[in-house]
Amino acid sequence: MSKDSFNSLLRDIRACTLCAEVLPEGPRPVVQASESARILVVGQAPGRRVHETGIPFNDPSGDRLRDWMGVDRETFYDVSRVNVVPMGFCYPGTGASGDLPPRPECAKAWRAQLMAAMKGVELTLVIGQYAIAWHLGTRRRKTLTETVQAWRDYWPDHVVLPHPSPRNNVWLKRNPWFEGDVLPPLRERIRELL
Ligand code: SF4
Repeated sequence: MSKDSFNSLLRDIRACTLCAEVLPEGPRPVVQASESARILVVGQAPGRRVHETGIPFNDPSGDRLRDWMGVDRETFYDVSRVNVVPMGFCYPGTGASGDLPPRPECAKAWRAQLMAAMKGVELTLVIGQYAIAWHLGTRRRKTLTETVQAWRDYWPDHVVLPHPSPRNNVWLKRNPWFEGDVLPPLRERIRELL
């Protein structure tokens, strides 16, 4: 894909209104992507705060994710080095138990072509069940914990992470092997790719 085609694809995504009728705050696709970045971060969908600022992971979850990756904000938001492409590009609204799932129309419409266009990607950080389902398919394990624990099976091109939200502190306390076993090689690999 030429640079013009890549930019045209991004323009089309940013102008997308495909599921506007069901988005409570209307479309505002939040995507950070280039052909050159070697690292891809795949989350679920923007929350309200990200929707308001248009900046992905601009919240406490993002701070923890950057800490896990061993990168500062400047590096994380450098589109030539890090792509951030969630499963749904717009804020889907909030239900009784938190943010709603990413809109299913989004991945169907855009994901395959954008993934094919991001030719530089060598490492994908996969966060959340929708990202795991799309990126690992039948290779995922029964539970999130088992999938994260099997990280060597997906290394070195994919790493599944638990959600970095502060609400996930209980999981982190119960699974200390994550910080001890997974994060050091992850940081090392990210250092190599930057
Ligand atoms: S969520 Fe995706 S499909 Fe829906 S309007 Fe936003 S960019 Fe388009």
